[in-house]
Amino acid sequence: MLSPALRMTAASAVLLLAAAASAFAADTPRKASLSAMGGIPINISAWGLDQESFETAVAEIGGRLEYLEAMISTYRPDSDVSRLNRGESLERTPPELSFLAFVANWIASETGGAFDITVKPLVELWQSCAAEQRLPTDAEYQAALAKVGYGGVSVLMDGTISFAQPGIMLDFGGIAKGYFADEAVDILRAAGATRCLVDVGGDIVTWQPDGEAVEPFRAGIRNPRGSGGVFAVISLDGGAVVTSGNYERYYEIDGQRYCHIFDPRSGRPVDGVLSVTLVTKSGIDADAYATAVFVMGPEVGGKFVERNDDLEAVIVFDAGSGGLEVYVSPGLVERFELLEAD
Ligand code: AMP
Ligand code: MG
Repeated sequence: MLSPALRMTAASAVLLLAAAASAFAADTPRKASLSAMGGIPINISAWGLDQESFETAVAEIGGRLEYLEAMISTYRPDSDVSRLNRGESLERTPPELSFLAFVANWIASETGGAFDITVKPLVELWQSCAAEQRLPTDAEYQAALAKVGYGGVSVLMDGTISFAQPGIMLDFGGIAKGYFADEAVDILRAAGATRCLVDVGGDIVTWQPDGEAVEPFRAGIRNPRGSGGVFAVISLDGGAVVTSGNYERYYEIDGQRYCHIFDPRSGRPVDGVLSVTLVTKSGIDADAYATAVFVMGPEVGGKFVERNDDLEAVIVFDAGSGGLEVYVSPGLVERFELLEAD
């Protein structure tokens, strides 16, 4: 049984991700938009900076994201991650890459392997099957699964990343956007912003000083099945809110949609969960745990969130009877507002 403090049936269809965040404060923020990582929109809002300092900070964010993307993107054959995935060794492992791999593996062990950066063989299998419009065979599943498992990745004391066997491949797609948003917020804080919000493709990280009587940030959660409008709003004093959804990216085979998030234990695309919105302190954690709770599903994922004081979640799932249900973790109920169905 689900044990939420709040459980309801969504009136229409599913929910999608919330890219719509708005912030209210006495003064108005300076705003800028960037595009990175193959067109992912990045929206930056900062308070308390003059135009020149803001523009300098935005340029620094752009440079930082380009640096990180060149390091971890699997779309770039010359990235450090692409080289590792081809079995090459790096002369020097950038500290950011060691950090990401370390955090990812920590969260993998915390979540019983629901989050796992070694899912890439499954991603590649489904990409090629979608291109050929057929489902993977059992033999293909077994071959891919033999190369999946976070236990096969080690981060050594000097930061070197090593693989236990050939064929292991890393994919930071489930954690990178949240990390990028954290990095951008750090740059704005260092520049002297008194309050800020960064949205990297819907992964939102906010910051304002503790304990001050300021307006909370408000982040919308979209309805993925309907017109995509905001169906609920979460209020935040600071920290991160990230949504993993099944609506934007999926594989379509024979008219059937398959989720782009996999259960690394079974190799199967997750079924029945529409979106998970995860609220916690940092973007890197929010991103990874959103993906993990998506894999765990409402029963196991809800209990997991309730056991962890720092994690709160909204889970939208298919109740099986045709309707959708929304789970809201007890610690989030007071900050969660359901809007009229659109
Ligand atoms: P997100 O949108 O943050 O939930 O991340 C989804 C992306 O992470 C997918 O497109 C894959 O590249 C990767 N991924 C899929 N399943 C998993 C998983 N179980 N653990 C970690 N990363 C995953
Ligand atoms: Mg994620």
